[in-house]
Amino acid sequence: GAKPDPILSVDNITRSFGGITAVDVEHLEVERGIITALIGPNGAGKSTFFNLITGFDKPTSAGKGAQWSFEGKSMGKTSPSRVAQAGMVRTFQLTKALNRMTVLDNMMLGATDQAGENLFKAWIKPLWSAQEREVEAKAKELLDRFKLLDKKDDYAGSLSGGQRKLLEMARALMTDPTMIMLDEPMAGVNPALTQSLLGHIQSLRDEGMTVLFVEHDMHMVRHISDWVVVMAEGKIVAEGTADVVMNDSAVIDAYLGA
Ligand code: ADP
Ligand code: MG
Repeated sequence: GAKPDPILSVDNITRSFGGITAVDVEHLEVERGIITALIGPNGAGKSTFFNLITGFDKPTSAGKGAQWSFEGKSMGKTSPSRVAQAGMVRTFQLTKALNRMTVLDNMMLGATDQAGENLFKAWIKPLWSAQEREVEAKAKELLDRFKLLDKKDDYAGSLSGGQRKLLEMARALMTDPTMIMLDEPMAGVNPALTQSLLGHIQSLRDEGMTVLFVEHDMHMVRHISDWVVVMAEGKIVAEGTADVVMNDSAVIDAYLGA
């Protein structure tokens, strides 16, 4: 439904793979400055939805006029780097290639691979070293915040599951986003670190950032979400506060039925 101050507004976005409709969202608004959880069974289309709105995937054109705007700016034909420059970033799981780089180098790359070419081009000498020092200082500051500074010269591949999740978050913050999207931030994290991850997510919100995250653990969702959106078979089937949504029969059907 309509929100008082939406930072993101999405209309008629669909994505099919062969005969399967992965995403079919008629309308969704994400309210600014709060933590919104996107929940739903495996294969509901949550990751595909993230890919679409951040420009990493393109909607299937079905003549329905897919459009979405972030901060009032139309994003539908925008590249991932432009989306990141506009302030909307998503985390990425560390790939094999990134595992073979140090933690600090991962952070430095985080400044370029989403916020993109413009910043990267600006690195071309003679400004390169001054710019690089600035980016490195910022990377270290974020690593310190996420308690990873003493790991800066270690290979990312040597980190624990929880530390990897912290690094993924820290990387995404290199571009100073106003909205951060986290896809299953708690997956593979041991209980000792989940509390710390939850704390980091809440502090980002408390500093004014908008958070949209996908999570399976309903205890986490209930604990930190200000608003919950439920997706099933590509569609938004319910939304509301955690308590309301988790007692909704459509939600119970989506999880236990299909
Ligand atoms: P979720 O993140 O909610 O688990 P996904 O967005 O990953 O769901 O997937 C939604 C549906 O789209 C699933 O049926 C999945 O198999 C399909 N799908 C996702 N990505 C692709 C792809 N690149 N090629 C083919 N099918 C895909
Ligand atoms: Mg997924």
